[in-house]
Amino acid sequence: MSNKQTLSFQAEVAQLLHLVTHSLYSNQEIFLRELISNASDACDKLRFEALNNNALYEDAPNLEVRVSFDQAAKTLTITDNGIGMTAQEAIEHLGTIAKSGTKDFMGKLSGDQKADAQLIGQFGVGFYSGFIVADKITVESRRAGVAPEEGVRWTSGGTGDFEVEAITRAARGTSIILHLREEAEEYLNAWKLKSVIAKYSDHISLPILMEKEEWKDGELINPSDENGGRQPGGMVKTGEWETINKASALWTRPKKDITEEQYQEFYKAISHDHEAPLTWAHNRVEGNTEYTQLLYIPAKAPFDLWNRDKKAGVKLYVKRVFIMDDAEALMPTYLRFVKGVIDSADLPLNVSRELLQESRDVRSIREGSTKRVLSMLEDLAKHDKHEATAGDDGVTDVVDADDKAKEGKYTAFYSEFGSVLKEGLGEDFGNRERLAKLLRFPSTSSDTVSVSFADYKARMKEGQEAIYYITADTLAAAKNSPQLEVFKKKGIEVLLMTDRVDEWALNYLHDFDGTPLQSVAKGAVDLGKLQDEAEKKAAEEAAEAFKPLLAKLKEALKDKAEDVRVTTRLVDSPACLVVQDDGMSTQLARMLKQAGQ
Ligand code: ADP
Ligand code: MG
Repeated sequence: MSNKQTLSFQAEVAQLLHLVTHSLYSNQEIFLRELISNASDACDKLRFEALNNNALYEDAPNLEVRVSFDQAAKTLTITDNGIGMTAQEAIEHLGTIAKSGTKDFMGKLSGDQKADAQLIGQFGVGFYSGFIVADKITVESRRAGVAPEEGVRWTSGGTGDFEVEAITRAARGTSIILHLREEAEEYLNAWKLKSVIAKYSDHISLPILMEKEEWKDGELINPSDENGGRQPGGMVKTGEWETINKASALWTRPKKDITEEQYQEFYKAISHDHEAPLTWAHNRVEGNTEYTQLLYIPAKAPFDLWNRDKKAGVKLYVKRVFIMDDAEALMPTYLRFVKGVIDSADLPLNVSRELLQESRDVRSIREGSTKRVLSMLEDLAKHDKHEATAGDDGVTDVVDADDKAKEGKYTAFYSEFGSVLKEGLGEDFGNRERLAKLLRFPSTSSDTVSVSFADYKARMKEGQEAIYYITADTLAAAKNSPQLEVFKKKGIEVLLMTDRVDEWALNYLHDFDGTPLQSVAKGAVDLGKLQDEAEKKAAEEAAEAFKPLLAKLKEALKDKAEDVRVTTRLVDSPACLVVQDDGMSTQLARMLKQAGQ
């Protein structure tokens, strides 16, 4: 090809371009992420092809991206030395839409400008996103391995057509030259560019370079007089290039090459937390869905933990390219305290939040990550006690240094996040049993929040058939409740539930490991085999003897109480309030009343 050729965009591209250029959406800076990610893809492709043909590296084996700008010309240029494009490839790849992600996107367009503009904001739109900030884009490219004369220049104003012409280009790879719109001139600024690159592309493993600048004073207005004033000074380019990203995605490196400090630094960088995390897990998951997860459990709860709308703390990357913060589809709400990174090899770069919700890959990532967090917690719980613990196999673990470091961590975790974890009973049915094992409560035998259902079961009395608990506003109220009297007398442990979510959460948990959970404040307490024959008989006789009194009491309280019964649950107190077995507990009723319902 020698002469200039003018070609038309595929109809769908023209439609997409029209939208891009006519919708000034709030997230315009993503164009830089898209273009840098294309540059990175181009370098990956070169690396791959060069596996069989080392000559493709020509004399430039170090793959990199350079970002530069020209204030006078109002251009921003992104150059890579990756695979490059032939003229034919430029025509095909930059003039038609082949990839499925954008096709899906096009399928969703409604024709309603406003709704579509919003859609576009949620999608990455690849190369064409350059037209958000540019009214003209020039692409100059030369494919690796072809002669310099076979370069191509592609130019378009982002409307119906584009031009291609042959050029000579010594350097392999591609330059994307954006002629910036007036509204986008803020990108002619090193500081602005660096901050956008740090936000979206810091973890691209390819070095991103920018030319160093230094301050230069303006010229003296009157050279003979030092105090005669100067022209305004400014930043000038030094001709020296520096790498501005970290150029390494921590999570892509093998675990053995990463130090404890590096993991902690990374946590601080992504979480904006000053404290070190309690623990983390770093894994590459292979199988149907491939992804890498690096998940952290913080030591301290954020102030707004209670806000269930608060976004989760997991960042989504696709092949090292940042896609979005707070990808709620990747973590259930009750694990919203988890921070970290999930890097998928399977999702399209332009995935939207809506698509995330529907994706099967995302569902499997979410399930895998949830299980990973639960096993981290189980591990902390297992090592929480100071003495060596007997595992399920009955063999006492040898406590090594690593285990020692975990001592007390579960208690610390639980006091910060235990209440949130309980939400999982109602939210995540599949993991309910694992969650139940992770719960801890105070009890009539322990003031600290340390009794698990399993501990309780192990201490159950001969003949005891239920796990007993009481809900109350405070620990003192729970402990002094008259409903506990008979349990105290018989030395039966009762779990004291004083957390606001307990009542709600326990609606979803009817038993633990086959043993039913029973509120001591509901219905007639059936102590089953714990009650001896004599006691049962006495109760029955009393019920008979007090029948006339009960009838009178019932009549007197008819608007207030549904039933009046003789009970065995009291020892010292004359009376107490209970709710029906299927009724709402007094505690829950009070909560709802407080909430104005
Ligand atoms: P995607 O990256 O999802 O394929 P884009 O719209 O970002 O979609 O890019 C379209 C195509 O243009 C790419 O698939 C690639 O073939 C080509 N392309 C874009 N930028 C470059 C580049 N810097 N080097 C080589 N090819 C590129
Ligand atoms: Mg792309």
